[in-house]
Amino acid sequence: MRPLSEIKGVSPALRSQLEKLGIHSVEALLLHLPLRYLDETRITAIRDLRLGEQTQIEGVVVHNEVSYKPRKMLNVRVQDDTGVLNLRFLHFYPSQVSAMQPGQRLRVFGEVRPGFFGYEMVHPTQRKVSDDTPVSQALTPVYPTTAGLSQSAIRKAVNLVLQDQHLGETLPGWAYASLLMPDFASSVRLLHQPSPDIALSTLEDHSHPAWQRLAYDELLAQQLSMRQHYARRKQSRAPAIPASKTLVAGLLKTLPFALTAAQQKVVAEISHDLALPHPMQRLLQGDVGSGKTIVACVAALQLIEQGWQVAMMAPTEILAEQHFKKLAAWLQPLGITVAWLTGSQNKKEREQSLSLIASGEAMLAVGTHALFQDDVQFKRLGLSIVDEQHRFGVGQRLALRKKGTLAQEMPGKGTPGSIEPHQLMMSATPIPRTLSMSYYADLDVSVIDELPPGRTPVATRLIADDRREEILQRVHDACAQGQQAYWVCPLIEESEALQLQTANDTYAYMQQAFPKLKVGLVHGRMKTPEKQAIMQAFSANKIHLLVATTVIEVGVDVPNASLMVIEHAERMGLSQLHQLRGRVGRGAAKSTCILLYSKQQCSQIGRQRLKVIYESTDGFEIAQADLHIRGPGELLGTRQSGVPMLKIADLERDAHLLQLAKITADQLLQRDPAAVSAHLQRWLSQAEEWVKV
Ligand code: ADP
Ligand code: MG
Repeated sequence: MRPLSEIKGVSPALRSQLEKLGIHSVEALLLHLPLRYLDETRITAIRDLRLGEQTQIEGVVVHNEVSYKPRKMLNVRVQDDTGVLNLRFLHFYPSQVSAMQPGQRLRVFGEVRPGFFGYEMVHPTQRKVSDDTPVSQALTPVYPTTAGLSQSAIRKAVNLVLQDQHLGETLPGWAYASLLMPDFASSVRLLHQPSPDIALSTLEDHSHPAWQRLAYDELLAQQLSMRQHYARRKQSRAPAIPASKTLVAGLLKTLPFALTAAQQKVVAEISHDLALPHPMQRLLQGDVGSGKTIVACVAALQLIEQGWQVAMMAPTEILAEQHFKKLAAWLQPLGITVAWLTGSQNKKEREQSLSLIASGEAMLAVGTHALFQDDVQFKRLGLSIVDEQHRFGVGQRLALRKKGTLAQEMPGKGTPGSIEPHQLMMSATPIPRTLSMSYYADLDVSVIDELPPGRTPVATRLIADDRREEILQRVHDACAQGQQAYWVCPLIEESEALQLQTANDTYAYMQQAFPKLKVGLVHGRMKTPEKQAIMQAFSANKIHLLVATTVIEVGVDVPNASLMVIEHAERMGLSQLHQLRGRVGRGAAKSTCILLYSKQQCSQIGRQRLKVIYESTDGFEIAQADLHIRGPGELLGTRQSGVPMLKIADLERDAHLLQLAKITADQLLQRDPAAVSAHLQRWLSQAEEWVKV
């Protein structure tokens, strides 16, 4: 990486401005690519202007006036041999008034719009010229910038760097030859200074080969970085755990169901990883209700049988408690102690759990992020399982991993040295293929791609909220006949207090309106024991109708609940809706999810989302649509916090390049370490690190 100070002509002031944009090196400046381009290579006659076009004209000022009605504005009229054009400025400096005095020749660039007096441009860029000022020879790049840093200053700096001879190819000949794309140097040059004969549209939609080349390079850097990281971690040591001989069979015998083929497949993948002396780094994906918990439990047993402890972390207390209950019910009959740890335990309970974990008596510890606080000491942690992994930040997962890294010794060998626990991450938010190939390239991925048999798909209804009364009655009738229902209150992003109030009001109303029903309320602000009591009562069918905020979104499993109403569904994200809907349809009864939406408040995107959720129950399809609507940033959640996103490549548009980059990355890592580091050098100056965990 070369510091900007190496470039003569970039002043310290300019340098510090560039640094504000995150540009700290020559390489980063080179890769600071334009957002769009202006065609200032031509001058259009005023007579030939067309509405809506971005065009450059040149003429002499014939009128300059500041008017005050209806508001203060500067009106300038410019004339060429063919006509007159009005320029209007609503914000302007005195210096602009004097720069555009009558008689002055100007070159003006802007969008042509209809105005009071014929065509006009509002806030065009304009500069003084003389008769013989040449037009630009290249399309004009427009860069992402920050306050105080002008386009021309960035252009100047880029220009200096482009003259500098550091644009060499990082790909070795064989890799470059098979690429059939322009080389790096000409691609970068072209994108910064495209010649006027290039179709603007191919630059703007990034289909131009030069853009494609850089998108490819960026994807390749991401692949290299993540795969390298993956390989490094694969070199650290972990306990090699042979396949279970007794415990797993013992558990499966007691289950009222058999594992599906998809569950068996992922169990085998995990079991194989655990048997290796290197840490497993596996992401287990499966749609809501696909049965990930039992898979995690089977993995846990493989370790427990060999005397290693397992930690299982869930993002909410409700979910952690539910896991604890389920796992304890499965494991206690096998003589295994399960401990439970959350932030809301009292001191005595907590100390008891801590000592069970520290002594190694508890072979499995289930909990929230309370699991990785400092005073939690495992005797011999061999596997950490993270449920709903996207809910956790990078730091939290790292902390849990470190729990097992405390300078343990390999059993039997007596050689000191640290070993790491295996790691299994689970996610019910399916990750589209392109995302898992890119941002998750540092993990192995297992997918449970079928649901347990006997589930009837949830019927989804979209109903405008002017029919709320009717729906209330319907929920009442269903509950009176023995069904159980969730009533999910609207998400109110601006105010948690308001959201709470809405939930309270709804609850109060329903209690009063439905005296024969047992109505419950659960929300995020409740104390845990309260929440637990409510969920237990709902599980035991002592509550018929559960009014809830979105806290029930993840994981909650009450098979008898078969009806869900979601208010203001148009405000919720796709994966949130999918998760919520996944709370019903878990038992044998036919389930329905009613999405109430407000006709007035439904945005274009809201409408798009409702259509997707109405038409599909397939998590992968929904995730793909979500990626399309929101882009990868939102979908990745906190996974990438602090880790840069792709800037040039677009996973949807450039999916074909991703495939190519993946293959080349593997080959490069095997064949040409020097090329790998050269490529990473160039691109990592842009993106410090692709992987933090
Ligand atoms: P998720 O993948 O959403 O975490 P769970 O692990 O909570 O799903 O499983 C959902 C429900 O399906 C649970 O009640 C679980 O006991 C049940 N289940 C899991 N596997 C099977 C199976 N193979 N056959 C029938 N039911 C199953
Ligand atoms: Mg789950």
